[in-house]
Amino acid sequence: MQRITVLGATGSIGVSTLDVVARHPERYSVYALSAHSRVDELAAQCVQFRPARAVVGSAAAADQLAALLRAAGVKTEVEWGEQALCSIASASEVDSVMAAIVGAAGLAPTLAAARAGKKILLANKEALVMSGQLFMDAVHESGAVLLPIDSEHNAIFQSMPQFGGRVPAVRDDAAGVAKILLTASGGPFLTRDVATLDAVTPAQACKHPNWSMGRKISVDSATMMNKGLEVIEAHWLFGAPADRIEVVIHPQSVIHSMVSYVDGSVLAQLGNPDMRTPIAHALAYPERIASGVAQLDLTQIATLQFEKPDFARFPCLALAFDALRAGGTAPALLNAANEVAVQAFLDLKIGFRQIDRVIAQVVQQLPHGAAHSIDAVLAQDAAARAAADTIIAGLAP
Ligand code: NDP
Ligand code: MG
Repeated sequence: MQRITVLGATGSIGVSTLDVVARHPERYSVYALSAHSRVDELAAQCVQFRPARAVVGSAAAADQLAALLRAAGVKTEVEWGEQALCSIASASEVDSVMAAIVGAAGLAPTLAAARAGKKILLANKEALVMSGQLFMDAVHESGAVLLPIDSEHNAIFQSMPQFGGRVPAVRDDAAGVAKILLTASGGPFLTRDVATLDAVTPAQACKHPNWSMGRKISVDSATMMNKGLEVIEAHWLFGAPADRIEVVIHPQSVIHSMVSYVDGSVLAQLGNPDMRTPIAHALAYPERIASGVAQLDLTQIATLQFEKPDFARFPCLALAFDALRAGGTAPALLNAANEVAVQAFLDLKIGFRQIDRVIAQVVQQLPHGAAHSIDAVLAQDAAARAAADTIIAGLAP
């Protein structure tokens, strides 16, 4: 029986994770769940999964949740705040941690799971983008097992089967990997007239053609910052230099990514675009379990298309490659500026095309330094948020 903590249980990934878990009650039990403010949803999950502990974002939310659970006769212990999140991620009762909080807020608990040597199912790419080497060092020092949930990285992991789960560094020529081919759908604005992008609404940006996801990652997919963050994520997970990671637009989202080997072989992982596949893969690894996802019908899909990304249409992708090449705390600056700019767009404070301009200005303004400690990373994160706020306040609405 694997005992699981789901960080971000009420989100898109959290709900998909619990869907897979519920299909296999003989294999998985839920130790703890977390949410930020969606208390009703978390209460319903506690009624269904009976975790020992549940964590929310504020004292008021904790009071609300405790009252709902009392009324339902559920004995889950209710806590709140970052320390409680770190505690449910590192407790000795836990085997596996699904890291599915969105954004930098997930860094502390995900790092706590890494330091405690847990099996980490990593959806929260922002945590790894921010902390890079420091996070990977924590994983290696504690003997934690890191399994990618992001569909592309899960596909890359699956396309390196010869290494038995011990994924080699791509930069190491002995691995025989020529390139990682990271596929991207191109999002909702792949073919839209660029001149009209300034006028798009949050609802249009969040309407992804293939995937149903949380709002932040949906906007990231529309700007392709999501792919940029994934390039940086692939760099850390697979030891891949920037020039061995190639982004390929593949609008159908059927091939989830590929590994190109020096002998000319290309291995790919395919499937319907449903996150329950990578979630089930990582939960059961190295075994296979049913996920509820329909089998892929290739004759129904009939055509798979590929094209090069247009960096002029998607400047965020170029900004992310620049941050990866700059190294140090540059990716943390990029990530923080992006989080602030995306929230400002969702709050109707800036237009869609101002997202990339705010980020570009922040990374230009702030000097990046060495990422020698988590405190240094968090200081850069805070500085980038303040700079982005100032830039946004100065923009005409
Ligand atoms: P959602 O917005 O759907 O869910 C986010 C979860 O995090 C919710 O449980 C939310 O709680 C919680 N949360 C939000 N803010 C905070 C905070 N400040 N402190 C603690 N918890 C917080 O996001 P997704 O599920 O879409 O994405 C989660 C992560 O997975 C992201 O890093 C994303 O990039 C990654 N990912 C997602 C994919 C997808 O298909 N959705 C695919 C690949 C990666 P509440 O509900 O109470 O607000
Ligand atoms: Mg992805």
